Amino acid sequence: MSPQPITAASEAVIARGRAVTPGGVNSPVRAFRAVGGTPRVIREASGPWLTDVDGQRYVDLVGSWGPMILGHTHPDVLAAVTRAAARGFSFGTPSENEVLLAEEIVSRVAPVEQVRLVSSGTEATMSALRLARGATGRDVVVKFAGCYHGHVDALLAEAGSGVATLALPGSAGVPASSAGETLVLPYNDVAALEAAFAERGGEIAAVITEASPGNMGVVPPAPGYTEALRRVTAAHGALLISDEVMTGFRCSPSGWYGLETGPQGAHPGGYAGGAPDLFTFGKVMGGGFPAAAFGGRADLMARLSPDGPVYQAGTLSGNPVATAAGLATLRGCDDDLYRRLQQTADTVSTAASEALTQQGVPHTVQRAGSMFSIFFREGPVTDYAAAQGQDTAAFGRFFHAMLDGGVHLPPSSFESWFVSGAHDEAAVQVILDALPAAARAAASA
Ligand code: PMP
Repeated sequence: MSPQPITAASEAVIARGRAVTPGGVNSPVRAFRAVGGTPRVIREASGPWLTDVDGQRYVDLVGSWGPMILGHTHPDVLAAVTRAAARGFSFGTPSENEVLLAEEIVSRVAPVEQVRLVSSGTEATMSALRLARGATGRDVVVKFAGCYHGHVDALLAEAGSGVATLALPGSAGVPASSAGETLVLPYNDVAALEAAFAERGGEIAAVITEASPGNMGVVPPAPGYTEALRRVTAAHGALLISDEVMTGFRCSPSGWYGLETGPQGAHPGGYAGGAPDLFTFGKVMGGGFPAAAFGGRADLMARLSPDGPVYQAGTLSGNPVATAAGLATLRGCDDDLYRRLQQTADTVSTAASEALTQQGVPHTVQRAGSMFSIFFREGPVTDYAAAQGQDTAAFGRFFHAMLDGGVHLPPSSFESWFVSGAHDEAAVQVILDALPAAARAAASA
């Protein structure tokens, strides 16, 4: 038996939070609803470590849900943020960091000629969708079950991430008119895509997909699937929007796109069939601050205000501190970092799988670059229906035993685990040491 976790201080903060904030949290997955127990209230973070208000340390495999690719409070990022903040917090005018960050993104992802900076992934996908509708003069959007693109009205149907974690069909408050313009298709199913386009191709403005889904757990595109998305959309005059908010600058120096062209070699689920029209980015490119982007070909981006008729704006867009954090983070994302991320992901995912196998726990590990997740069912998992067929109770027991062992996993089995460049031998050893008891807990139905 592991000792009772110490959570008195976390509980006290959460209780106060509940009085003034719904559920005591500002984003639903943080509430531990799927796994039960007390969310740990974090006081500070450094490298691979989180420290909670009870003074306990955890190895962090959440990484703020993706952004913290260099680890927490990386010295270079901290220095850049401190320098930028000392010069002013927000100007509401053009500033140089915005240009530098845009140049960095454009130089890494060749089909992206221009970007517009925004403050969240949700804004990025919402704006990309508006641009696609404005450019095509069509209203319908196709999304895939289990993909999450932020809490945009049109994109919440059968979404992954928190919508999946909380087992919701979508969200109350989405107008029927908006939901009615969204077609939800099963992921990795070319026949379903072709059938939808055969029926309504002339109405479809865009297909939006996660470049490699990570919000139903990690479910990479099957060989040729991304190519099929490109072929079918192009044939019907619809745009293809690749949401790289999670994969961007995480799967390679240039994201999922880079798996096609980068040092890791072509991925059979990559963009070989031609580049998407629009991309969305977030998470890593903000380095833990609110910065995100959407971008694509210059002729498409020219339709945005002030040059074109598609309106889009933001008081804090291109914020000088957030862009400094993003720029310093991207500059730290070199080939050596990706090599180390792959190694850490290999070590952790292999050890987790071995521990679960030893206890006879049905599971499958799926990878996309250094992103990986463990489904508590036999694999392979190629779509949302299969992801939903896992034993979430077994995951909950595993999760809490890991937490008791000093490892903070994402509190849902529908999420990717994120490693960072700061996960050194000592941090990895804590994970390896926690796994046997966690696997026993998972097995102990
Ligand atoms: N798209 C994807 C693929 C995401 O993973 C997320 C967030 N998890 C979003 C969009 C939304 O980003 P944000 O939470 O910054 O609004």
